[in-house]
Amino acid sequence: MSTEIKVPDIGDFKNVPVIEVHVKVGDAVKAEDSLVTLESDKATMDVPAPAGGVVKELSVKLGDKVSEGTVILILETAAAAAATPQPAPAPLAAVGGKATAADIECDMLVLGAGPGGYSAAFRAADLGMDTVLVERYPSLGGVCLNVGCIPSKALLHVAAVIEDAGHAADLGVEFAPPKVDIDRLRAHKAKVVGKLTSGLAGMAKGRKVRITRGYGHFIDAHHVEIEVTTGNGQEKTGEKQLIRFKQCIIAAGSQAAHLPFLPRDPRIVDSTGALELPFIPERMLVIGGGIIGLEMATVYSTLGARIDVVEMLDTLMQGPDRDLVQVWEKQNAHRFDRIMLNTKTTGAEAKEDGVWVSFSGDHAPTEPQRYDLILQAAGRSPNGRKIGADLAGVTVDDRGFISVDSQMRTSVPHIFAIGDVVGQPMLAHKAVHEAHVAAEAASKRKSHFDAAVIPGVAYTHPEIAWVGLGEDGAKRQGRKVNVAKFPWAASGRAIANGADYGFTKLVFDEQTHRIVGGAIVGPGAGDMIGEVALAIEMGCDAEDIGKTIHPHPTLGETIGLAAEVAEGACTDLPPSRRK
Ligand SMILES: Cc1cc2nc3c(=O)[nH]c(=O)nc-3n(C[C@H](O)[C@H](O)[C@H](O)COP(=O)(O)OP(=O)(O)OC[C@H]3O[C@@H](n4cnc5c(N)ncnc54)[C@H](O)[C@@H]3O)c2cc1C
Repeated sequence: MSTEIKVPDIGDFKNVPVIEVHVKVGDAVKAEDSLVTLESDKATMDVPAPAGGVVKELSVKLGDKVSEGTVILILETAAAAAATPQPAPAPLAAVGGKATAADIECDMLVLGAGPGGYSAAFRAADLGMDTVLVERYPSLGGVCLNVGCIPSKALLHVAAVIEDAGHAADLGVEFAPPKVDIDRLRAHKAKVVGKLTSGLAGMAKGRKVRITRGYGHFIDAHHVEIEVTTGNGQEKTGEKQLIRFKQCIIAAGSQAAHLPFLPRDPRIVDSTGALELPFIPERMLVIGGGIIGLEMATVYSTLGARIDVVEMLDTLMQGPDRDLVQVWEKQNAHRFDRIMLNTKTTGAEAKEDGVWVSFSGDHAPTEPQRYDLILQAAGRSPNGRKIGADLAGVTVDDRGFISVDSQMRTSVPHIFAIGDVVGQPMLAHKAVHEAHVAAEAASKRKSHFDAAVIPGVAYTHPEIAWVGLGEDGAKRQGRKVNVAKFPWAASGRAIANGADYGFTKLVFDEQTHRIVGGAIVGPGAGDMIGEVALAIEMGCDAEDIGKTIHPHPTLGETIGLAAEVAEGACTDLPPSRRK
């Protein structure tokens, strides 16, 4: 079969000269063999063969200028060879015009050691690939382990203990008001993080995954240059290393978005700064009413801060159905002095007595407000435009997201991307699943990311967890569904736990009767939602779930009971009215 081999997407470059032609008519090439080298004023790029075959016709010569889509040559491919492309070692990188030998060579380079990156590296190593994992910071684990999921949950756990102790008075057990030793609290959080990150370093060693510390950026489609870093942050030593890889997984994650009009001041922090617990403020402003902002509001308010939240949109916590959020709002009203929806922060002035913030919008106070601490939690931006991905020919959109196919392959077939850098939802469990797919696809397994649903959880008090299609989403889509709700006021365990305000809701497709979504609000909701996700993946109907025996008395039992509600077979509620 004859195939036209064209110049792939090479970013913004046009009319780039061909500086080397590596093949001639009649040559046999393997997949990933370099066919030609192009050189723009910024970069040198190899165009690899997408499959093995024999060069039938050459359409370019030295010095020709080419752009995306220009035909380079005609390749006679054998169908069998095309089906099993074998990446070959890349040629030497041309750095600054000189051919340079690589310091490190590997089958698989993983850029970024967050939950996506370390999972990809470990899976690739387990599948027999010689793997290098590059990370700019001193510890593995990325945002999730170091400054995200884990430290926030360590603090939320402490907040839950304080709150439970407070509520115990209603049950006849009184504790003295808590005394918070902020240094020991920080030490607790650091210990949790340290235990996990050092565990990762041990697991990397056990798998012979080589860790390289430094800031990595692409030079071409087979080389990453590392600017070696040192210390606790990403301070560069000036030393550089060149890594040549056969395949690569980009797992560079995301960063907190910073609002440009806010001054640089230690009292204005992002989630990383807030997790450091610099001090317990009297008055705190949380900019952004999403999950990260509200989780941190929970921690700080339990430690004694009064909180204002400002949110541009008309609701807090986008994602779950509004009836769940309403339960959360009722349970959390005591934390907030103001919840300013449809309102924007328009400016801030750092003064000695605090940061004075002005607002505009529906709930904007007329005068600027003084805060001791401000948390910017107005979203996260992907790191796709900070790694020279264009020099490797990888397509990155304007916002910094890298587009991938169902095997997590980028526009360059031997370079994969996973996790926050490929898109929403920016969640650790999504990154890990994508990581496994990418590593397996790279080792020629038929892995695809085909999860039907990805659960979301707000680890607030109470928790909100949801998965699949919500009731609100179904209404918006005009999709016909049956919604079944089990109120926790009828759950013995919830009543015993003081959580009778919660509920469990399941959503079933009206035609197929299969479950398409579910949501829970109440303590432990995040630990229970996995069952609903499994039911959706397995295509269960209400009978499957309702007839699965759940242990009694548990909060998880409410999932089975909600399914019984859908069936009209629940005996833990008053009889439903006959139609
Ligand atoms: C406060 C907070 C709480 C969160 N809570 C949860 C939660 O409860 N549950 C949940 O699922 N998700 C949560 N998240 C989101 C979760 O942390 C991310 O979705 C997850 O970490 C993404 O994983 P990743 O591997 O894609 O990227 P990251 O974790 O961002 O890791 C990317 C890594 O790449 C490194 N890197 C980037 N560029 C380079 C480079 N050029 N060279 C070398 N290294 C580089 C970075 O230093 C980083 O270590 C939370 C996030 C925050 C901020």
